[in-house]
Amino acid sequence: MTQEVKHVLGISGGKDSAALAIYLRGRYPELPVEYYTCDTGKELDETYELINNLEVYLGQSITRLEAAQDSPEAPFDHFLQVYGGYLPSAMSRWCTKKLKLDPFEQYIAGQGPVVSYVGIRGDEEREGYISKRPNVQSIFPFRKNIWSEDVVRKVLDNAQIPFVRGLYEAQAAGAPNLSRMLELVQEPASAHFPQRQKLDMLLDLSTPTFNAVAFAFLKTTDYPLSKVDHFPLVDNDEVLVRDDIFRILRDSGVGVPAYYEKREYQVEIEGEVKTGHYSRSRSGCFFCFFQQKIEWVWLYENHPELYEKAKVYEKDGYTWQQGETLEELSQPERRQAIKREHYLRTERQRNNAQSDSLIDILGVEDAEGEGCAACFI
Ligand code: SF4
Repeated sequence: MTQEVKHVLGISGGKDSAALAIYLRGRYPELPVEYYTCDTGKELDETYELINNLEVYLGQSITRLEAAQDSPEAPFDHFLQVYGGYLPSAMSRWCTKKLKLDPFEQYIAGQGPVVSYVGIRGDEEREGYISKRPNVQSIFPFRKNIWSEDVVRKVLDNAQIPFVRGLYEAQAAGAPNLSRMLELVQEPASAHFPQRQKLDMLLDLSTPTFNAVAFAFLKTTDYPLSKVDHFPLVDNDEVLVRDDIFRILRDSGVGVPAYYEKREYQVEIEGEVKTGHYSRSRSGCFFCFFQQKIEWVWLYENHPELYEKAKVYEKDGYTWQQGETLEELSQPERRQAIKREHYLRTERQRNNAQSDSLIDILGVEDAEGEGCAACFI
């Protein structure tokens, strides 16, 4: 019998989680998904706008989770005081834990089984944050492999081969390529045949069959999905990549967050004035230290008031970036140098890719994979 299982989706304010909410609503309206967002109090206005648009589209409210709710300060400022003014950095990312992960953990604490949907795309190589709570399971609907690493590890554990073989025989009875599937299942994973390769090959043969086997396997565990009789994503073999995300956002009317839209800048290179394009590559706090230099320039030139606010945080020797203060970065010659470097790098990428896709034009793809899934997906 189906036990009450909570389905949740965290809206970061970025494009991928917003697109996932729209996608799930369209493809699986029967899934009772609850939405939440962790507000640091320091997001861009465009992020709040996206969340509002999404609420209208879904016809459902998105729960606002805030760390340190009793504090008179914004959540980020509260914890900055707790940390004695020590600004977070890629090496010491207390902000993600305190402002995003802990509120989520509290949100689901004491709940029954929870399925958490994560918008990591099919063209990304990252796993994202996985809650360690035993009542939580992550699902990745945009990827060919919708399962988290821990589930895959268990299903493809060599010790489980006879059991998984039986599941394949039951799930794929009559399939023309059943014998090939069984051959693969029988082959133990090893240094020469890593589990990842085995997984990819099984998914290539039939994603729905692998999913059905994994789902049946989970029935023998305590995972949240063992509590449901039916999980519609088992049949899903769609893989969604970056361009699909922009299409979903535009087609739905929710729209692409305005900070992703490229804007022109001019820069002089060898006596010629060139026109480049810049934008912000992700959601998150306006002062996020994961920003590239060109994104700081974008912030200075498009949101000067936020740049000034970010500058105020730099004191007592703490800076957002190593080796350069925001005051130094905002000097005209320095901004020109950053634009020059960005323009040339983007041209190189465009020539290499020989493609007109948005990612090449924006020239920000190398930055997108960095940072934290909880903040940017
Ligand atoms: S967006 Fe950046 S600064 Fe804000 S919480 Fe996330 S990692 Fe920290």
